[in-house]
Amino acid sequence: MSRPQTSHLFYQSRQRRPVLDQARGVYMWDVDGKRYLDGSSGAMVCNIGHSNPRVLEAMRKQMDKSTFGYRLHFETEPAELLAARTAALAPEGLEKVFFVSGGSEAVESAIKLARQNAIAIGQAQRYKIISREPSYHGCTLGALALTGYAPLTAPFDPMMRPMPKIPAPRAYLDGLDPDDEATGRHYADMLEAKILSEGPETILAFIVEPIGGASTGALVPPKGYMQRIREICTRYGVLLIHDEVMTGGGRTGKFFAGEHWNVDPDILVISKGFAAGYAPLGAMIAHKDIVTNVLDNGGFLHGFTYAGNPLACSAGLAVLDEIERENLCQNAAETGALLKSELKKLMDRYSIIGDVRGEGLLLAFELVEDRASLRPLAKELNAFNELVDIAYENGLIIYSRRTRGGYSGDHFLIAPPMISTPDHVAEIIEGLDLSLRQFLDRISQQQARAS
Ligand code: PLP
Repeated sequence: MSRPQTSHLFYQSRQRRPVLDQARGVYMWDVDGKRYLDGSSGAMVCNIGHSNPRVLEAMRKQMDKSTFGYRLHFETEPAELLAARTAALAPEGLEKVFFVSGGSEAVESAIKLARQNAIAIGQAQRYKIISREPSYHGCTLGALALTGYAPLTAPFDPMMRPMPKIPAPRAYLDGLDPDDEATGRHYADMLEAKILSEGPETILAFIVEPIGGASTGALVPPKGYMQRIREICTRYGVLLIHDEVMTGGGRTGKFFAGEHWNVDPDILVISKGFAAGYAPLGAMIAHKDIVTNVLDNGGFLHGFTYAGNPLACSAGLAVLDEIERENLCQNAAETGALLKSELKKLMDRYSIIGDVRGEGLLLAFELVEDRASLRPLAKELNAFNELVDIAYENGLIIYSRRTRGGYSGDHFLIAPPMISTPDHVAEIIEGLDLSLRQFLDRISQQQARAS
């Protein structure tokens, strides 16, 4: 088929991708009939798989009723029901749900709610939000100021208020044992040190991805870290924000990743898996006391036109139904454990795999020059693009990032939909095995040509 003329792609793509025709379950087909296994659920979005007939039917039913009702003019049943269901899943006290259409909007909402809460309780001097480096919290300027990833943020630095950063707890790079509580304490105490050096009275919040996403490649915090972070925030009156844009919705084996440590934030944000790609949807879920403070002090000065869209909320409800009906959190935990152990077996065959990490079906491996030094691969090898392209040719979609400049190397997220089976795991591993072999062959050929 001839390619449609497109003018909507503003980003510079090394290689233009085929045109998508259709998607079902864990598979996607381009217009030439080639099949791909969606090994990263898009950008860790399509958690329940593609074209689920029950979700499509629920959305069709809602479309017949209404597709838009402005939130200041009408309540809608899907928004009401979804808010109640989401609050019931959230930690105790986090009862208030504020709908948005994506992750960046959710983070912006959390920033502004936290700030208005500080003003409402007479602590207007609090305005700094501490975050980690590397981290990703979104592309809008507020969320970007919290994002710890210089290649994305540097051009905009003069336009943003600098926000304090602490290192993400990448124990594997620092040669520390993630299962040792001293390691968790070591990294968490960096938060306390930062609060003290900045002036505790100026710190509004700390934002953290409980399990890292694209920025750190599925980084699981060391033992005790999340609990200690919570204690430190409470001690200094700093709000704890869990950015569960990627982890929320069951992918890590629990509906919210914070459940892995029984740690409750004051505010949490969710998006990608919330409507799982069926509609743009996200939410900020906040403690009722924070919302009461803000509402009693003149109201929340914030809101997006499409917030609480009934069609998007009907998709969110149907996705929740599906997660519960099919027990998908448990499947993510079980299939994720199998996939992780199979990825670890690949380490025996490929010494360039420096680390395999993650939880449930949010997994990643990192490529390095050699496992002993964990030195990143040479930048010129462009591994994070090359391996993705080779896998793509082999019909396997994976997601990659290179976090350079004082960071680690090329990492690859393996995060198929939560409906994945052991057969899909075998197919993913086969595709990765073939792609890694071809990647290494390509490097050898390049080196032979160069010498
Ligand atoms: N926060 C996290 C942890 C994310 O992974 C992302 C997106 O990847 C965002 C925020 C921003 O979400 P969106 O791209 O929907 O604006």
